[in-house]
Amino acid sequence: MAKKEKTAITPTRQENYPGWYQQVVKAADLAENSEVRGCMVIKPWGYGIWENIQRTLDDKFKATGHVNAYFPLFIPKSYFEKEAEHVEGFAKECAVVTHSRLEDDGHGGLKPAGKLTEELIVRPTSETIIGASFAKWVSSYRDLPLLINQWANVVRWELRTRLFLRTTEFLWQEGHTVHASSQEAQDETMMILKLYADFAREYLAMPVIEGRKTESEKFPGAEATYTFEAMMQDKKALQAGTSHFLGQKFAKASNIKFQSKEGVEEFAWTTSWGVTTRLIGALIMTHGDDNGVVLPPRIAPVHVVVVPIYRNEEEQKTVMAFVQELEDALKDMRYHERALQVKVDDRDLRGGEKVWEWIKKGVPVRLEVGPRDVAAASVFMGRRDMEPRQKSGMKMTDFVENVTGILDEIQNNIFKKAETFMNENIISMDDHDVFCDYFTPKNAENPEIHGGFALAHWCGDASCEENVKKDLKVTIRCIPLAQEAEEGRCIVCGKPSTKRVIYAKSY
Ligand SMILES: [Zn+2]
Repeated sequence: MAKKEKTAITPTRQENYPGWYQQVVKAADLAENSEVRGCMVIKPWGYGIWENIQRTLDDKFKATGHVNAYFPLFIPKSYFEKEAEHVEGFAKECAVVTHSRLEDDGHGGLKPAGKLTEELIVRPTSETIIGASFAKWVSSYRDLPLLINQWANVVRWELRTRLFLRTTEFLWQEGHTVHASSQEAQDETMMILKLYADFAREYLAMPVIEGRKTESEKFPGAEATYTFEAMMQDKKALQAGTSHFLGQKFAKASNIKFQSKEGVEEFAWTTSWGVTTRLIGALIMTHGDDNGVVLPPRIAPVHVVVVPIYRNEEEQKTVMAFVQELEDALKDMRYHERALQVKVDDRDLRGGEKVWEWIKKGVPVRLEVGPRDVAAASVFMGRRDMEPRQKSGMKMTDFVENVTGILDEIQNNIFKKAETFMNENIISMDDHDVFCDYFTPKNAENPEIHGGFALAHWCGDASCEENVKKDLKVTIRCIPLAQEAEEGRCIVCGKPSTKRVIYAKSY
């Protein structure tokens, strides 16, 4: 048997995927569980990734006419009650504020006092509270469209949590828009879906499939929910973000009306859309390997890390002078819309230790510089899209000249790798037995990585969807937008169907 290659992360993806994920988050120092059950502490390296996601999306929202605002964290319970489906969808995971202060309980502790006349819900999403403001802001067709975004935290009381993927409190952006017609609101919903999907591909290097959610999977209270779904390396789907066409439901619940050009009072049409810190989990699981995180350059907090290597003070002087020269040459450069981020790691640690730390963190380019490199005016480069030991030497000036090209190459390579993986694991199928086999692990006790995306016909009945969910823990992830009508038979019941949907296990 061949000797197993030593990896920085144990267990490996093949050995135990959820265990691997946990260890990668820890090894890269992205986040940790807090003392507060279900809540996470996002550490600087993880937050740096979020900031880049945030800045990029924020620029794109603004470029498409949206502006930011901020609304209350608390939502009066009565607001929620106005939209029946909405409250039903979120009721089971709400944090409720019932009191306004603390009092001495007479036993050295504190007890809540000042019972509120109306309970407040900590926002799980803000349609109703923002709707209350919109009702005041909108009175004429001249006020429309109203295009607002909010960067905020939300709370959904989750019982089983996992860092970035599912936590009780998480960060997100929520767009909320108001339009004069159904068509305009639908156009906005689709424009944002495309904006998200392009962002995922171009920045996160993450291939995604855009589609519509089924009735049972859509946002509580929406007319239609559109999603973009990504495939993780355990072949499960991850809903990366959603865009909802809300019709007039929330406008009616919040009383958002406007006077049309013709002088008629009408209810407005609204949308909402969001992505969350979950995208960081998606990034990790799309690109990470058995040595840690692999960050796409366009979203990485650091593009190039320089690790000086020396054994004594004299060498240190020579090496650091050269490193300074290198840093000066790189520091005013741009990589796409950002300044090139260069980090010189001169901590008092062994060079090898530092290099492995940056591998685990996923920095795209590592440069090692020792006395011999200085003598040759060169650098020793390692790339995160290649094996850790696959390094190459080059003249320092050549590196400086080519650095942005190298970063683009890494960005493209990791996208292509993820795209190939996804395409290889989308299987078109028409046979029920094949379908069941596909989603059944051989080892039931300790399931191996199995399945993928099954592209199969669905008759449209909720019962077929429900059966598959019950029997195989597989859901319809979306009805892909990019497909031709095609006659076929439902993979579950055999009734006629005109289109295929994506079935998968999911996060
Ligand atoms: Zn069916």
